[in-house]
Amino acid sequence: MRFDILTIFPGMLEGPFSESILRRARERGLLDIRVHDLRRWAASPHYRVDDVPYGGGAGMVFKPEPIFAAVEELAGQLPRPWVVLLSPQGRRLDQALARELLGRERLLLICGRYEGVDERVREHLVNEEISIGDFVLSGGELAAAVIVDAVGRLVPGVLGDPSSAEQDSFSDGLLDHPHYTRPAVFRGWTVPDTLLSGHHAIIEAWRQKEAVRATRRKRPDLLNTTKHG
Ligand code: SAM
Repeated sequence: MRFDILTIFPGMLEGPFSESILRRARERGLLDIRVHDLRRWAASPHYRVDDVPYGGGAGMVFKPEPIFAAVEELAGQLPRPWVVLLSPQGRRLDQALARELLGRERLLLICGRYEGVDERVREHLVNEEISIGDFVLSGGELAAAVIVDAVGRLVPGVLGDPSSAEQDSFSDGLLDHPHYTRPAVFRGWTVPDTLLSGHHAIIEAWRQKEAVRATRRKRPDLLNTTKHG
C-alpha cells in the first residue's frame, strides 16, 4: 500500500517510519511511504505556503495554490490516491475507519499547520477530512503518522502473526483480553491458573470472557453497539 504525505516539516516524519514494524514493512516493499515537502510547489522567490486570513484575526492560513499544485501532480501518478485532509473537524479515526482506509490502494495525507488550510482545499480537492481525536494538535504530521501506523499494520504481511491484529481491541467490537508473560509469580501476584493449564479451548473461553469483562469495565459504550452487549 502506498502513502503520500504532504507537509512543510518532512523531518518530523523521519522517526516514526524508520523503526520497528513500519521500517521492516517498507524494507520488504509492503508499504511505500513517501513524504513530500509542500514548499516544492510554492512559488519562488519566497516559497510562501501561508498568508494572513481574510477578515483578520490571529494566525496564518495555508494558501490554496501550493496544495492544489502538489495534489494534482501527485494524483497524476497511479494508482490514484484517496485524498485526506488531517483536521480536528474531520471524521474521527477508529478501527472501522482504519479498515475502510485499508481498502484504498493509496492515501495522500495533507498536513495542515497554523489556523489550517484555505477552505477551498476542503471543498474542492479532498475526498475526506479525518481527525485523530477531539483535541487540537499543532499540525497534521503526528496525525498522519498515526493513520499510517493504524492502517499500515493491517496490510497483509506487515505483522509477523496476522492473528495479532484480529485479537486486538476493537477488531470484533471488544477490547483485547489481558496478557501475561513469565514469571508465573511476580511479587506474589500470580498468573491466572487457566492460562497455565495448557487447555486451548478453556483458555480461549477465558480470554473471551475477560475481553467482555474488560470492555464492560473500561468502555461500556462499546457493548451497547455490539453483539456482545
Ligand atoms: N484552527 C483549526 C481548528 O480549530 O479547527 C485548528 C488548526 S491546527 C492548530 C493545525 C493543523 O493541525 C490542522 O490544520 C490539522 O492539519 C492538524 N490537526 C490538529 N488537530 C488535529 C486532529 N485532532 N486530527 C487531525 N489533524 C489535526
